[in-house]
Amino acid sequence: MVVGAGLGGCTLAYRLSCRGLRVLIVERGDFLCVPDRQPGDPIGIYHKSALAITNVIGGPTKFYGAAMYRFRDNDFLATEHEAGESPSWPIRYSDLEPYYCEAERVYRVHGSAEGDPTEPTHSITFPYPPLPHAPLVSKFVGSLRDTGTCVSDMPRALDYGPNGKCVLCPTCDAYYCRLDAKMDAETAALRPALSSGHVQLLTRAQCRRVLTSDNGQKATGALIERNGNQHTVHADVVAICAGVGPSARLLLESRSSRHPLGLGNSTQCVGRYYGGHTTGMIFPLLSLTTKLPGMHTKTFSINTYYNGAPGWPYPLGVIQAAGQIPFWEGEVVPWWKKWPARFVGERSIYCFYMTEALPTRESGFELSGNQIIGMRPPVQNTNTFKKLRLLAIDLFKRAGYRVVAPDHRSLWHTIGTVRFGRDPESSVLDPNCKVHDIDQLYVVDASVLPSAGAVNTGLTIAALALRVGDSIARVKFTGAN
Ligand SMILES: Cc1cc2nc3c(=O)[nH]c(=O)nc-3n(C[C@H](O)[C@H](O)[C@H](O)COP(=O)(O)OP(=O)(O)OC[C@H]3O[C@@H](n4cnc5c(N)ncnc54)[C@H](O)[C@@H]3O)c2cc1C
Ligand code: SF4
Repeated sequence: MVVGAGLGGCTLAYRLSCRGLRVLIVERGDFLCVPDRQPGDPIGIYHKSALAITNVIGGPTKFYGAAMYRFRDNDFLATEHEAGESPSWPIRYSDLEPYYCEAERVYRVHGSAEGDPTEPTHSITFPYPPLPHAPLVSKFVGSLRDTGTCVSDMPRALDYGPNGKCVLCPTCDAYYCRLDAKMDAETAALRPALSSGHVQLLTRAQCRRVLTSDNGQKATGALIERNGNQHTVHADVVAICAGVGPSARLLLESRSSRHPLGLGNSTQCVGRYYGGHTTGMIFPLLSLTTKLPGMHTKTFSINTYYNGAPGWPYPLGVIQAAGQIPFWEGEVVPWWKKWPARFVGERSIYCFYMTEALPTRESGFELSGNQIIGMRPPVQNTNTFKKLRLLAIDLFKRAGYRVVAPDHRSLWHTIGTVRFGRDPESSVLDPNCKVHDIDQLYVVDASVLPSAGAVNTGLTIAALALRVGDSIARVKFTGAN
């Protein structure tokens, strides 16, 4: 049984189905209903609360930017940052490398290992070539390169190319694709899984608790609520893929006399080690007068500051193109800033810049008794983030652009709360993502990541899910862990 049809859950179900195992997916949400496209309508549908839409088949990937990056070698190692240490992973890049190759194939990732000094080794080249830049983006990238800035192609998961459905429209990042051309968890993984005949999907079914054997040593199924009724479902293996927050919550809410603190929580690590990316936006203006035409802008990134910069010994992060998102319509922009935000947004090829926010034992659930009453944020690398902003301003200015760089930050691509590790004292899961002290119970989604690096986390979640699928199949068929 797989709980949650998001990125981790759909990819795991896909892999298990390929291995010939029968899978039931229970998902609390349903397929997203969108209005039919009328002539002249844009392809993408924007939802100003896309960040809040998680309970749909495919999870937030129905709106994601499809930037599918491999973590860099150093992201798997303990790394010193300005505000503390980013922890070591229980596995290394080389352990995940074959699964990155497979995840890139499943999600049809377009990219190139050339021209990015931080790109780790690939045993197989990207399955598809990088996306072409729109003419204005090409000119913009050219002027950055002319001043010595190293600009690389962004790896993207789209059904683009001969016979592909994607037309590289302007409404992609943070939009729902009505051509079904975005390779999200549903289109890329769930559909082939369902078509295998091995996978059943139960929608509007919320998992309330995971059940264990009388001695508490193994998972035996789950209690599912659907249409107001509760049902017990038995399963040989339960994999929780409910995302950062809900997966940890489910473990806590499954407490029993054998596990009074919650499943996997004997060392009280569930709900802790919450991390992510501190993210800002920067606007290099291409024009002060006219609006830019609609175009697909999300094709490049600048990763040269990933591991530091001259005079800055700590990892800084990335600068990457955003799509043409009407972010000013969102709730985070107050009404009095909407007009200037729109003015600047419509005249620039704007970018995100992201720095790692560090997980600690204190970051994550704030509890009052058994109640989760809040979320303590990860530790920000404040000066590093400021430094990255200054470097980004400088490189766009050197290329000849006026720059607007609001001093605003958000936490994106969150990770942690059910991290995997070698030591049960400081982790919930073993290196195969099985709960340390309970058999047949796995977790695989963003919550298992011990750290977020500074590139988007999606491909790593997918690669881990493929690896966990193989681990479950191995235990099932050979009995060997
Ligand atoms: C606008 C936007 C853009 C993004 N762009 C990118 C990008 O370009 N690249 C990238 O790598 N990442 C991106 N992300 C982040 C990425 O989408 C998430 O990191 C990823 O989806 C997390 O995957 P997951 O498996 O942890 O959980 P999710 O994908 O969130 O899936 C969890 C699923 O579990 C279900 N669920 C929860 N609780 C229960 C329960 N009790 N019972 C049954 N079902 C349950 C939920 O409804 C959901 O479907 C973006 C996110 C947003 C919102
Ligand atoms: S760019 Fe391609 S995948 Fe993205 S919304 Fe447009 S058609 Fe869909």
